[in-house]
Amino acid sequence: MLGLKLSRVVLDPAHGGHDVGTHGPSGLYEKDIVLDVARRLGALLEQRLGSEVIYTRSDDTFIALEDRTRIANERKADLFLSIHANSSPYRAAAGVETYYLNFTTSKAALDVAARENASSERSIYDLKEVLQKIALKDKIDESREFAARLQTALYGVSARGNAAARNRGIKKAPFVVLIGASMPSVLAEIGFLTNSTDEALLRKPEHRQKIAEALYKGIANYADTLSHFQVAKQD
Ligand SMILES: [Zn+2]
Repeated sequence: MLGLKLSRVVLDPAHGGHDVGTHGPSGLYEKDIVLDVARRLGALLEQRLGSEVIYTRSDDTFIALEDRTRIANERKADLFLSIHANSSPYRAAAGVETYYLNFTTSKAALDVAARENASSERSIYDLKEVLQKIALKDKIDESREFAARLQTALYGVSARGNAAARNRGIKKAPFVVLIGASMPSVLAEIGFLTNSTDEALLRKPEHRQKIAEALYKGIANYADTLSHFQVAKQD
C-alpha cells in the first residue's frame, strides 16, 4: 500500500540563522525560501501519504550539517530530503538539479558541494576518506532512484515557469549533510536564486506551492517503486 514504506520522512530546510545560504539579485535568501517549501511539502506528505514528517529545523535556526543526518538516523526515518536553492557566477544558469551522495570528478558538482558544505569544518578532501569508510553502497541505488523521481517532477514545474530553465539532471557529489545517513537521502536544488527569473518565481507563494507539489509527486512516485520492489521480493 502506498505510503506504508514511508512512515517517517525527514525534511531538511538548508542553512538557517547566520548561515543564509545563497541570495538572489533582489535579496531573497535561500534559507527563507527552502523553509517555506519544506513546510508546504511536509503538509502534503502528512495529508496525502499519512507520513510522519520531521523537520531538521522549523524556524530560522542554524543547525550543523552533521546534526541534520543525526536527527534522521535517530528518528529512524525512511527518507531524507535536503532542500536548497542554487547559485552560479553565470546569471543565465537556471533550472533544477538533484544530488545523491557519491564520488564524483565533475568540477561543477564539486563546486556545488563545496558551497553547500561551507558551514562544516571538514574539507572536501577529508570527505573522500570519510566516504570510503562508509558502507553506503546499498543506499546509493535507492538514493539514485529517489533522485531521479524527484528531478523528473521538479523539472516539469521549473520548465513551465522559466523558458531558460534546463534539466540539469541528477548528479552525484560528496555532501556532508548526506554522509552517514542510513536511509535513502538526496539533496534538491529547486532553482537558481542568482537567476532573476528563477528568483522572481521563487518569490511567489504559488510557485513555491508548485515546487512542493513536484517534490511530493517525486516522493510518492518513489514510494510506488518501493511497493513494487516489496512485491517482487515476496515472490
Ligand atoms: Zn544551500
